[in-house]
Amino acid sequence: MGDAEGQCEVPRVEGRTGEPAGLHIGVIGGGQLGQMLGLAGVAMGHRFTFLDPAFEPPAASVGRHIQAEFDDTEALERLAVECDLVTLEFENIPQASAERVAARNCLMPSPAALAVAQDRLEEKQFFEGLGLTVAPWVQVDSVRDIVQGVAHLGGASILKTRRFGYDGKGQVRLADPAHAAHEGGPGNPGEAASAWEALGGVPAVLEKMQHFEREVSIVALRSRSGEQRVYPLVTNVHHHGILWQTTAHRGDPLQAEAERAAKRVMEKLDYVGVLTIEFFVVDGRLVINEMAPRVHNSGHWSLGGACTSQFENHVRALLGWPLGDTDPLGEVAMLNLVGRLPDPEAVLAVPGTSWHDYGKTPRAGRKLGHVTVTAPDANSLESRLDQLRGLITPPGD
Ligand code: ATP
Ligand code: MG
Repeated sequence: MGDAEGQCEVPRVEGRTGEPAGLHIGVIGGGQLGQMLGLAGVAMGHRFTFLDPAFEPPAASVGRHIQAEFDDTEALERLAVECDLVTLEFENIPQASAERVAARNCLMPSPAALAVAQDRLEEKQFFEGLGLTVAPWVQVDSVRDIVQGVAHLGGASILKTRRFGYDGKGQVRLADPAHAAHEGGPGNPGEAASAWEALGGVPAVLEKMQHFEREVSIVALRSRSGEQRVYPLVTNVHHHGILWQTTAHRGDPLQAEAERAAKRVMEKLDYVGVLTIEFFVVDGRLVINEMAPRVHNSGHWSLGGACTSQFENHVRALLGWPLGDTDPLGEVAMLNLVGRLPDPEAVLAVPGTSWHDYGKTPRAGRKLGHVTVTAPDANSLESRLDQLRGLITPPGD
């Protein structure tokens, strides 16, 4: 996989003359993650160009926008040639596009890291190869594989497309055959066939459903210089497959285990930038769900809730600048604003809150913004969250 620092050169800011000294950072994708990266980077003197197929994506408000598909070779070349370095905020780009950019400029994270994160099957094999625990799973390329897989895994299971899943899309849940067979459940080939069809008959994996105590994730980062940092492990609550609430605090008993996993993954991939890993907590231990090779929704709390946000730290990591402190500023939580926005004035009247609106057109199931709330102790955080949950509709409701 090579040494990312050895593969490409990022110009140094110090001593640059005749142009703004900050760097020109290219970003593949221009959604809210790009917008928040841009806001952090512009504040540090850099400028941005985002490649995104949308007409006016959120990030267009903080940089130049190239409106193009992710396989538009001419646009990708332009991004690679005009910028000092390239990163991404959307990982589901064609491998050929990632390689095209990487052939011309530094692409961080690398195409190799992207390839692992893009395919649930390769990702699971990669984790297993590092000795990390994943939920029992089988490869699915046909209805027959589902029928056999359900029997093999035992209990309830979940069928997921290998590629392009997000926010719970590209998934079908299959009930425990022991309970459902007499009702024509997934023990029944008809049920397996409809699950297969519901996902469009594409390569998939079938995973055993985990009866988790909670879901957690870790946002970690590695700089071009090899320096590594990890944010505190956070607890995530999903609603209809979409992240609803993240809570961050110091001293989670699983912090060290999550940190070891993240560092093992980053070192193996010679990773540069922010990497997020999602886990289920089962019987007090971590079971890896998946990773995202980018800044992540479960790290949004760090914007205002940690000494250095995940966005600023991602930019620092790309440049090889010293990484910032990842400590939380007290007890912190984030709630996503999905589908429609609440009244900002009512939200901001709750102490410790900050309001983030991505400037998107409201639509059912769409992430429009988020709210962070900080508090001096766990009890006051919970009471502030109670107030906020009274004002904000959970995803899918
Ligand atoms: P996102 O991109 O939003 O993180 P995703 O579409 O990539 O989500 P997953 O993270 O795999 O998909 O699944 C979404 C949610 O569905 C999980 O956060 C979890 O709540 C539930 N889920 C997924 N797999 C399992 C499993 N094996 N057992 C129990 N719950 C699961
Ligand atoms: Mg997920």
